[in-house]
Amino acid sequence: MALGSQPYYEPELETIDRDELRSRQEELLRRQVARCHERSALYRSKLAEAGAEPGDVRGLDDLARLPVVTKEELRADQRAHPPFGTFAVADPSEFRELHPSTGTTGTPVNTIWSARDVETITAVTARTLWQFGVRPGDVLQNAFAYGLWVAGMSCHYAGARIGCLVVPTGTGIPTQRQIEFLSGVGSTVIVATPSYGLHIAEGLRERSIDPADLPLRLGCFGGEAGAENPSTRAKLEAGLGIEAFDYYGLAEVGPTFASECEAKAGIHLAEDYVVVECLDPDTRRPIPEGELGVLVFTHLTREASPVIRYWSNDYARLATERCACGRTHVRAVGGIVGRHDDLVVFKGAKFYPSQVERVVRSFPELSDEFRIEVDAGGGTLVERCTVVCELRAEDAGVEPRLVRALRSELGVTPALRLEPYGSLERFAFKAQRIVRS
Ligand SMILES: [Zn+2]
Repeated sequence: MALGSQPYYEPELETIDRDELRSRQEELLRRQVARCHERSALYRSKLAEAGAEPGDVRGLDDLARLPVVTKEELRADQRAHPPFGTFAVADPSEFRELHPSTGTTGTPVNTIWSARDVETITAVTARTLWQFGVRPGDVLQNAFAYGLWVAGMSCHYAGARIGCLVVPTGTGIPTQRQIEFLSGVGSTVIVATPSYGLHIAEGLRERSIDPADLPLRLGCFGGEAGAENPSTRAKLEAGLGIEAFDYYGLAEVGPTFASECEAKAGIHLAEDYVVVECLDPDTRRPIPEGELGVLVFTHLTREASPVIRYWSNDYARLATERCACGRTHVRAVGGIVGRHDDLVVFKGAKFYPSQVERVVRSFPELSDEFRIEVDAGGGTLVERCTVVCELRAEDAGVEPRLVRALRSELGVTPALRLEPYGSLERFAFKAQRIVRS
């Protein structure tokens, strides 16, 4: 079968029987734990903390014996052992690329890709692009940030690997230029953050360009939650004239190792690349499948900067039942629900910015932008909470309906402020929805 007509990029891996997947994972896990124990002071101390020897980790069930590792611990390890920390376990002669985290929540953590890591990450990313429909001959407009953000590079390499023409627009150009590439070069696929995708859609609308006249057919959106939010997906699809999919990755784990497939039944996580666990945020014990918990990742094949039980702070619900697409790798159903750091606790109710987004973007009278203003301090518990939105036109009695919709979604009534269209900043990179003052 010609590569382009194949439903899967790596059929044997993507549809592997789960028992066979598990035995492959266990073999790789034993090797990775032994390697990290031998070469990394951080992981030696983590195992010692649990009273475990590397030989005690024989299978996936033994992982729960080991403590999780947090971003703060990786940071501290790097401060104590600059510049890469002791979790950079490959020989420095193997180091090929440095990819720091974005630093949106503190000092960036440096991760290293070896030559083999570049290969693995490119293959996994190519699989995720294929999963939502990218094929040889597509023109891929890569509007993920390049520079110091991993997703830009991984999609660039992977698009080229599949056989696409890659247009590396990144995020550093005016919207007008993005639109010129969409129409002039004839991009068929775009990858971007959801907020940047909406911003480009807004640019098309302002210029009275009908997206149906563009060759663009697919978009995949990551870096923030959003594309699986029904109102955001509908806006991306209508505004850009595409089918929109959700994308997920983390600098420390892998830039783009999970995407939706055509069944749109959640993001498939590449389980030959990482072990995926879902833990209770308080007890840090595994929770039953389908319940909301924190995703924890263990690298199986990462050579240079592997993580073992990395606490992502991202909340999701997992499903291992075979997907309608035929793939067997685990899905986070509904995508990433929220980041622990973005949780707002206000008057006893807990909610995430994605819930405010769902409400705001269901109102055609409002623009896609919004902010949640809360107390300075940085804790989740806040005393003041104001949702700020933009009106597209004159207020046609939207306020009382919006207050009711927010109360119904959040279980609490935040203050509301409506501003004129265009007053809130637009984001090309990761949108900051929570503003502390
Ligand atoms: Zn699927």
